[in-house]
Amino acid sequence: MKKLTKYIHAGAHPDPSTGAIMTPIYQTSTYVQEAPGVNKGFEYARSQNPTRQALEEALAVIEEGNFGLAFSSGVAATDAVIKLLKPGDEVIAGNDMYGGTYRLFSKVFEKFGIVFHYINLSDINNIEKHINPKTKLVWVETPTNPLMNIADIAGIAHLSKKHKLLLCVDNTFASPALQNPLSLGADIVMHSATKYLSGHSDVIQGALIMNDKALRDELYFIQKSCGAVPGPMDCFLVLRGIKTLGIRMERHSANGEKIAHFLKSHPAIKKVYWPGFEEHPGYAIAKKQMKSFGGMISFELKQESIEAARKLLSSTKLFSLAESLGGVESLINHPASMTHASIPREERIKNGLSDTLIRLSVGIEDADDLIEDLNQAIQLAENVK
Ligand SMILES: *Cc1c(COP(=O)(O)O)cnc(C)c1O
Repeated sequence: MKKLTKYIHAGAHPDPSTGAIMTPIYQTSTYVQEAPGVNKGFEYARSQNPTRQALEEALAVIEEGNFGLAFSSGVAATDAVIKLLKPGDEVIAGNDMYGGTYRLFSKVFEKFGIVFHYINLSDINNIEKHINPKTKLVWVETPTNPLMNIADIAGIAHLSKKHKLLLCVDNTFASPALQNPLSLGADIVMHSATKYLSGHSDVIQGALIMNDKALRDELYFIQKSCGAVPGPMDCFLVLRGIKTLGIRMERHSANGEKIAHFLKSHPAIKKVYWPGFEEHPGYAIAKKQMKSFGGMISFELKQESIEAARKLLSSTKLFSLAESLGGVESLINHPASMTHASIPREERIKNGLSDTLIRLSVGIEDADDLIEDLNQAIQLAENVK
């Protein structure tokens, strides 16, 4: 079955009691049993919920995997993966990733004795140097947030298998419509379903997808034991979002491409971070492992002044100044003070995330309107002395 068909039918079964075409929101905490231990497969809603079950089935289908698990947020899904480990275990992670993932690793899990190495994952030779007998997991984000660096998923999967390491890929930026890490050899895919999967900026949710049954059972045990499960209403919203994921991503990518080229040709712009440019160091790999390049773009003005960047950030009318990404509406963000403020400044600058970097989540509006909006804001920023 082709992707656009899958997105509409994944996890969808007419409700057995009424025939309702949409999975109902089973807003219940418990289920009546016929006799002690005799039930319909549902005992208590932290462990099982029919709306969540439909979503988890859909997640597996759209990510080309065998099993899906839904969590109350993207970081709760990440938290569950790290709970597979024990004190002394080591993790290799990127040095340019979502600020909240870095915060969870460095401020919560390091204190439980798990050791994280934050390295440049674009260079595959760099990874093997950091592998030792204690290494258990490689955590990859690609494209990265916010510098749009690319890691070679198939190459890292090959290396992980050789050293018997788990490979988890945060696929939030690409979405399953553009990139399927399990098919490239990853063991687990993580999503902030808050972003492209839901697509409408109206829910916080996370997801894990995997192929291996034993790994699924371990992660399900953590999901039910630690309890970071999403409510049925939120599961319904993500199920609905998934139906339009394919066409939304086509438009996000088409708009992203137009805006990336507009910014690149603008005399006031110093650098545009977008993996669809042939001179991008990760272009060849991005082209191989992604269907198109998505709607995320970062850039810097030629004037390397915070005041000019602030002027631009507060002058757009269609791009709303906000954290998050992946909704139908366009957003503009200042990573240094917003999404990535939890990373110490020296660490940020060392990894190339400047104080003046601006990140766009390009929505599905008309690209001409978005370009006009950016153009007027850039002009205002240029006038800042
Ligand atoms: C937002 C985001 C997360 C965290 O997800 P939440 O749903 O906000 O908990 C993780 N990774 C990436 C790339 C994100 O953009």
